[in-house]
Amino acid sequence: MEDEPERAKRWEGGYERTWEVLKEDESGSLKATVEDILFQAKRKRVFESHGQVRLGMMRHLYAVIDMSRSMEDQDLKPSRLASTLKLMEYFVDEYFDQNPISQIGIITTKNKRAEKLTDLAGNPRKHTAALRKGADSACMGEPSLYNALSIAMQTLKHMPGHTSREILVILSSLTTCDPANIYDLIKTLKELKIRVSVIGLSAEVRVCTILTRETGGSYNVILDESHFKELLMSHVRPPPASSSSECSLIRMGFPQHVIASVTDRDSKPSFSMSHLDSSGEEAGLSLGGYYCPQCRGKYTELPVECKVCGLTLVSAPHLARSFHHLFPLCAFEERPLEEHTGDRFCQACQGELKDQSVYACPACGSVFCVECDVFIHDTLHSCPSCIHSQGAS
Ligand SMILES: [Zn+2]
Ligand SMILES: [Zn+2]
Ligand SMILES: [Zn+2]
Repeated sequence: MEDEPERAKRWEGGYERTWEVLKEDESGSLKATVEDILFQAKRKRVFESHGQVRLGMMRHLYAVIDMSRSMEDQDLKPSRLASTLKLMEYFVDEYFDQNPISQIGIITTKNKRAEKLTDLAGNPRKHTAALRKGADSACMGEPSLYNALSIAMQTLKHMPGHTSREILVILSSLTTCDPANIYDLIKTLKELKIRVSVIGLSAEVRVCTILTRETGGSYNVILDESHFKELLMSHVRPPPASSSSECSLIRMGFPQHVIASVTDRDSKPSFSMSHLDSSGEEAGLSLGGYYCPQCRGKYTELPVECKVCGLTLVSAPHLARSFHHLFPLCAFEERPLEEHTGDRFCQACQGELKDQSVYACPACGSVFCVECDVFIHDTLHSCPSCIHSQGAS
């Protein structure tokens, strides 16, 4: 593992020379150029959305959050911990929005130990509640990368081969306390096809470079909070499936929400199957629910794996929403404004086009401003003008 490929370190000038791009505007403010740089970064992400690749749509992801002493640092406001937990809440919501048939679990590490904050599960509310609670816990000692990774591995290795197994580590500390040789663990992770990515809050750490390179993940160190958010969001998109991962057809059930009518004699309030293991915290009787089409087990929330027959239950709109990952909207062509004849107004927001560039849909030729271009690719996933012309024909 010693033959590390030549790769420029950040402090060796390998990163973008941001200060050379910065220009003051008439009022002496840098705000405009900074915003411009951020937009360019967003557009780059739009471009990088790959076409015909197999994606790991069913994801099992463990997020590891460093809760060591160094998370008390206040370079992120109000503290690294508070900022991380807030962004993670946002991440969890986005993750389930874009990956409705996936699961997530959270592990924390401090004081040379690691523990599960939440188990792998598909219910975003459980995770966000746990994250909110985590804000009160004290940051202590050193993290243990080894312990955190092995806890995640114990569960992930039992996940079916066609799913994507991932670990995302948010690491603040520059040191880790490992009870055994971490390089052996990295080898095992690689064999189990668990992809580990790291977001560093301080500086590049060599062991993470090797860990992410060997397992096929990504490794980035944040510049500031908005960059942190940007990096987290890059993990929302399903990753390309490794060529060696199995393919498989998955049986799914699409239960409809049924509310038993009160006038019906046979209908009595009943428990949901998902309360079997939730130790009564949200147990309650309800009249309505989603019924497994195979075994009639009742659930109050989707998506869920049927506790009785193992069928994956999802709602059709959920599944449709993850569809755009397989057929991403092609990137719009960037053209200088001077060369652009025709419309002077953005086809989406109707605002006047006054940036240096306009963005044209290759299919219908409509032009958009940069804000709308980013919004269309990040959120809408379809060209508003194309839909319009399809509807008309
Ligand atoms: Zn069932
Ligand atoms: Zn616009
Ligand atoms: Zn179009």
